[in-house]
Amino acid sequence: MDAASSPSSEPRPGPSGLSIHATVALTIECAGNGRSSNGSSETPQRPRKRPRRPEAWKRTVAKAKRARGEEYVSPSTGKTVAARTTGPPCSCRQKCFERFSQREMADVLDSFYDLEDKELQDAHLFGLIRPNAVKRRRPRAGGNTSRLATYTYTVRSVGKTETVCQRAFASLHGISIGRVRRIAKASATAICAPKDKRGQHKRVKKFKFFLPLKL
Ligand SMILES: [Zn+2]
Repeated sequence: MDAASSPSSEPRPGPSGLSIHATVALTIECAGNGRSSNGSSETPQRPRKRPRRPEAWKRTVAKAKRARGEEYVSPSTGKTVAARTTGPPCSCRQKCFERFSQREMADVLDSFYDLEDKELQDAHLFGLIRPNAVKRRRPRAGGNTSRLATYTYTVRSVGKTETVCQRAFASLHGISIGRVRRIAKASATAICAPKDKRGQHKRVKKFKFFLPLKL
């Protein structure tokens, strides 16, 4: 990085000391096709309102497919991720899986992945998880309790509502235990489903260059 690309927006002398030209630092959000402005013979182009970001379209497509539970190619790793299926059965005493027919299991999965994005899905799951009232909390050494709450997990299928264990809840929705835990935790503390903050960070390469403008 040379001095010309410092984040200052103050006008400074141009690269070749052209004092009649004010230089303006432009930060363009783009990746890949950042055009350098070293060709001074080029007429200064007004930047497009929004740079094209094809890699963002790819990400969007992959994200939507992932949310729908379809097979998708990860834009970051290039690996193909298989379509969502019902996970492994639980091994609890209630034998949760035995209370669902194949058709009912498929229905749980399908109606869940019919919800078009992750936020809607999380809200749906949020509505199916209920924190249980803590009956008694014994004081622990150090003052912290090992577990704050237990939860009741409900699965809805065609005209049927069953209370299942956490493993069965995750498997029947084809999601990870981690996702169930996150939502369960939120249900104990919040009044609405947690907002997914992933992917909100702008992954952009900042190209700074100086565009000579005639005053
Ligand atoms: Zn179970």
